Amino acid sequence: MQTVTLRQVLEVLEGFYPHDSAQSWDRVGLTTGDPEQPVRRVHYAVDPTLAVVEEARDAGADLLVTHHPLLLRGVHSVATTTAKGATVTALVVADIALFTAHTNADVAWPGVCDALGAACGLDELETLTVSEGADLGRVGNLPEAISLGDLARRLVSRLPATAGGIRVSGPPAAPVRRIAVLGGAGDSLFDAVRACDADVYVTSDLRHHPALEAREEARGRTPYLVDAGHYATEYLWLADVRDRLATALADLGPAGTDVEHHISELVTDPWTFTVGAVDLDDLDDLDSPT
Ligand SMILES: [Zn+2]
Repeated sequence: MQTVTLRQVLEVLEGFYPHDSAQSWDRVGLTTGDPEQPVRRVHYAVDPTLAVVEEARDAGADLLVTHHPLLLRGVHSVATTTAKGATVTALVVADIALFTAHTNADVAWPGVCDALGAACGLDELETLTVSEGADLGRVGNLPEAISLGDLARRLVSRLPATAGGIRVSGPPAAPVRRIAVLGGAGDSLFDAVRACDADVYVTSDLRHHPALEAREEARGRTPYLVDAGHYATEYLWLADVRDRLATALADLGPAGTDVEHHISELVTDPWTFTVGAVDLDDLDDLDSPT
């Protein structure tokens, strides 16, 4: 039976997410695998954790496509005595290729930010800023304004559930229409968010000082902040890459059509639970900032 090779799949993925569009510090592309190996099942996940690799193995996957790199920094051993080593070993022993599209998927059109923008309800998106010559982040306008609280509720309904949920800084009843988005850690782009006159910035991993200073600078007004979680803001891209890869492989004929595609069911957000959080429904005065 004819099968698709990893080399053929890589050509498609490289076309979507060119290696040279990644940021200079990033490490993207193929981490394990032989270009000549067959690909019958592709598994997709945000993070290449050991549990995800085991899930891919149990699903019979030949290729694991992830957003985050497994080996971003130098390693001197892939023995199973470290988590990274155990993960590399598990991939190699199970004959699973690992392909990563990270910052090259963030800047791609369509890419991670477009999937997040679509979840916000945006359909026409522009570049938020340019980093190393690549289009980073997106900004766009909703067809009509909605309240900040309703935007947060919309994201809860469209993003995968995590222990931390979604954190918002701003009055729940405030109208928002112009939305800036960046999947993953976003506190380096506050200047660009202000410059594009966004009403709200949807991103994740907002640290105390940058977030508080951005709110101080805004004097209680826009841009408001939505921290929707790193894993959750990048998860939506998985369905996008799956659909595009499946369509492209189908053009290769029956061998491509026969390739199976599975999105990981494991939540790799590192948090387990929260206590004591203020919920939107607990607020009495919806005009007051939280
Ligand atoms: Zn990320």
